[in-house]
Amino acid sequence: MKVPFLDLKALHQELKTELGAAFERVLDSGWYIVGRELESFEAQFAEYCGAAHCVGVGNGLDAIHLLLEAYGIGVGDEVLVPSNTFIATWLAVTRAGATPVAVEPDPHTYNIDPAALEAAITPRTAAIIPVHLYGQPADMDPVNRIAEHHKLIVIEDAAQAQGARYRDRLVGSLGHAAATSFYPGKNLGALGDGGAVLTSDAAIADRVRELRNYGSKVKYQHDKLGYNSRLDELQAAFLSVKLRSLDAWNNQRREIARRYKEGIHNAEIVTPSVPDWAAPVWHLYVVRTLHRDRLQQYLRECQIDTMIHYPVPPHRQRCYAEMTSLYLPIAEQLSAESLSLPIFPSMHGDEVDSVINAVNNFVVDSVL
Ligand SMILES: *Cc1c(COP(=O)(O)O)cnc(C)c1O
Repeated sequence: MKVPFLDLKALHQELKTELGAAFERVLDSGWYIVGRELESFEAQFAEYCGAAHCVGVGNGLDAIHLLLEAYGIGVGDEVLVPSNTFIATWLAVTRAGATPVAVEPDPHTYNIDPAALEAAITPRTAAIIPVHLYGQPADMDPVNRIAEHHKLIVIEDAAQAQGARYRDRLVGSLGHAAATSFYPGKNLGALGDGGAVLTSDAAIADRVRELRNYGSKVKYQHDKLGYNSRLDELQAAFLSVKLRSLDAWNNQRREIARRYKEGIHNAEIVTPSVPDWAAPVWHLYVVRTLHRDRLQQYLRECQIDTMIHYPVPPHRQRCYAEMTSLYLPIAEQLSAESLSLPIFPSMHGDEVDSVINAVNNFVVDSVL
């Protein structure tokens, strides 16, 4: 049996009629940028996340970048970011003119380690960006306590965790503000690029609205050097349709994760651990093994698609050549040992079984 890593086509087939109707509504409206669809989706998503304001933007990277600018964070400032995140978290900081400072994760949860966070603070530190990596919430109470003590802004990177809960609170409402992404592969994905900012601070929401729209509040009046980064009407209409299924899809992911946890027994493979205060949404199901490349090859031979998140940590990328000598052993270990197994809402039960069986049958010597 061939098991794909992700099947968006099947997911969208379920909603073909409603997505088609949304498309026709926007087509017939004659209005395609910043209109009713965006306003309506922003209201629905803010309510869903328990935040007072949502501002739809062009993508997740812009959501983080525009938030940093809205808080006045830039040249001369340091921003604490996980050492093992997707590079967009770092790029947003660099684009804002600030310096990303890498903080190592807890090797069990893969999320930012509060103890390491405290040690990385300097007089230049302005903000912390905890990432809810792979759909599992970061330990936000200690992060917020540290931030409060040092007067730092907390911006959640919730790109991988729409719908996840931390101690019964939804991610996106746990810091000063949050950024998320609607890249098609995320748990709530558009049919193109998209992103959003969430915050309960009306002034920050207004500033992001201005920045996403050429720095303008009133047409042809530009108070700030802005950008063009809006979530368009079509994507907002599609997202309104898909938001209604998000909880059900996340529950399907949870069921697959439960079956993986229960079914995978192989001494060479470590499955993810979940603290009791976390209700993850399993954007990715990442296992670890010292024989990662062999496991990936073995699964490929079993016709099971896997991916590596992420094969090279940000500080080892050429674009951050000045960071290459940083000593970040946990990020490097994770990039060498991690493998993401297939997990997606329309995945069939027999596909899940097939992954479990293959993983359990993996023997290191079986692959050269
Ligand atoms: C996807 C992602 C982003 C960036 O979102 P885009 O919409 O692709 O720009 C940022 N942070 C994390 C953790 C992500 O997974």
